[in-house]
Amino acid sequence: MNPGPAGAGVRRPRAPYNDGMLDLEDIFGAGGPLEAALPDFTVREPQRRMAERVAAAIAGREALVIEAGTGTGKTFAYLVPALLSGARVLISTGTRTLQDQLYAKDLPLVARALGRPATVAVLKGRSNYLCRYRLAQGEAALPLPLPTGMPGAEAPLERIRGWALTTRTGDLAEVAGLADSDPVWAEVTSTRDNCLGARCPELSRCHVALARRAAIEADVVIVNHHLLLADLALKEDGFGDLLGAADAVILDEAHQIPDLATQFFGAEVGSRRIETVLADLEGHLKRRGGADQALPQRTLLEAAGAVHACVARMTRALEGRSTRLEWAEAEPLLGSDVATLRARLGALTERLRGCETDAPLAALAERCAELTASLERIGASDSLEGARSVQPLRRGFTLSLMPFDIAPRFQALIQARPCAWIFTSATLSLGEDFGHFTSRLGLAEADTLKIDSPFDFERQSLLFLPEGLPEPQSPEHLSAVMRLARELIEAADGGAFVLFTSHRSLARAAALWRAAGAPLARYRLLVQGEAPRERLLQAFRADGNAVLFGTASFWEGVDVKGDALRLVIIEKLPFASPEDPLVRARIAHLEASGANAFRDYQLPEAALALKQGVGRLIRSEQDFGVVAICDPRLGTRGYGKVLLAALPPMSRTRREAQAVEFLRRHVAAPPALEALP
Ligand code: SF4
Repeated sequence: MNPGPAGAGVRRPRAPYNDGMLDLEDIFGAGGPLEAALPDFTVREPQRRMAERVAAAIAGREALVIEAGTGTGKTFAYLVPALLSGARVLISTGTRTLQDQLYAKDLPLVARALGRPATVAVLKGRSNYLCRYRLAQGEAALPLPLPTGMPGAEAPLERIRGWALTTRTGDLAEVAGLADSDPVWAEVTSTRDNCLGARCPELSRCHVALARRAAIEADVVIVNHHLLLADLALKEDGFGDLLGAADAVILDEAHQIPDLATQFFGAEVGSRRIETVLADLEGHLKRRGGADQALPQRTLLEAAGAVHACVARMTRALEGRSTRLEWAEAEPLLGSDVATLRARLGALTERLRGCETDAPLAALAERCAELTASLERIGASDSLEGARSVQPLRRGFTLSLMPFDIAPRFQALIQARPCAWIFTSATLSLGEDFGHFTSRLGLAEADTLKIDSPFDFERQSLLFLPEGLPEPQSPEHLSAVMRLARELIEAADGGAFVLFTSHRSLARAAALWRAAGAPLARYRLLVQGEAPRERLLQAFRADGNAVLFGTASFWEGVDVKGDALRLVIIEKLPFASPEDPLVRARIAHLEASGANAFRDYQLPEAALALKQGVGRLIRSEQDFGVVAICDPRLGTRGYGKVLLAALPPMSRTRREAQAVEFLRRHVAAPPALEALP
């Protein structure tokens, strides 16, 4: 159980702010308050247009889908009407970074510029907040502080203990120097599984509960998509009453929603999660010792042992497998074990429910019940509902169900909340067509608007489609791409992203690059997986001439403005791998239902992903550079035209010499826009 919002209170209505005062034209225009407040503000007509449409959608409580090309200034274009409207607004973002930026920078700035103070709250997932109960529980067993007085050498846990005495928010991002990857996070934060919720002795001081209460009382709340979807899908990590009180929900980076919603509306059971429940049960019983004679320790341990034995048998049955298996492939290996596991978890749940006067055991009963329900759902679903699969892990497995069609459920959920729903991103349409995005979410009735980027792509950038490269499935393809990459990177003097579609290609390419030795050693090579993503990006920006190799997570959501990034090389077209059983299952499902899987699923998904990858290059009016797409299918297959039509209107060439010349010319004389040809 989660700590619920402690005392939601009655919400005051807010009056609209701008009755007859400033209109959006004044605000976004020359001499307006935004220009006065922001030294680098540029008047952009598309930004005002977007703001007007958002204002109308909020006033009319409409569903609206807006693609705003890079450089539109979409954040201000929704923040200004949101603040002016007097509406209670929930803003959902794709990343914690954007959440923090909105909270700490953009919202205060716009509020100040408009003279429109608003109560703003940021709400993150529970894994960001200190759990006072777990900190206190662990304290007896914690090691002593490190025996050193050197500054900065204090153990992370010591720093957290000191900070815990004074923090108001409990947001661990405040702890200086605490790395995201530090294992201490797991020790001092809660999961929905181990949180005691209403039974917690620390509930009145619980940071998760306090953050939720602050959010309930705020005019503008910034959440992330995981929290929003957990709430919509009625998963326990949702935030309760917040959606019910919103007049408008604005989803930024909305292109992520269909895939995320598919995960949230599905079901997943991992052996690790089961083993953690069993370990917590065992730990609790040990701590209780023989103190409570009424506790049926032996029965509980027997029931837990039966679950453990089943998990161990399933793990052994999957030994030697590493790739995800379709359900039909896994069934002969697992036999009736999934049903047995469900039955044994059910039996354990019942026994735990018999001990509900013991708070930790009652919480364990809820965790077990949830696992049982998820297993039931996965076991009972059929091939029409979704793709069932088994992912073998080093010591365990994950069973999952990904529904094929979430549109009816998503549509019903948002229709049940009659507020404005505004979806925005730089990548939602293909050409003028939003159908792929809207149909996945059941938003066919929503109004759509496409706002083109104000950047001059034709002058600022060149799309290079090399000729003569081997087909992507050829064993020669990667080495040919890397030979070409080297030429281009030398012409650009570094400042390059090389984007791959698989970790295997990325690792091979990094090996080829390093084997080349001295000539390339002058460029700092940053490889995804060798350091955290944010650290790689910081190093890339700071270096100015670095080369970064990345896969999926660098194709989107990465913003490198300025000439640190002047070349993007795309290894091959980002079609989802048909080796992935989930992709295979979706294709089979579409074909069985009479659709054309390539046209209706694989091609639009690849086109949107390619548009994202290409979109990394030009991030401001001053940026320039080349995008090279090293996949000959763009020129030789009919669908190449569809993919190219989705890209910004860049100049194009098939000649390497022209791409090299473009890079050399601009690197030698960067980047005053007036000076471009
Ligand atoms: S302090 Fe208690 S209620 Fe709050 S997160 Fe921790 S266990 Fe849950």
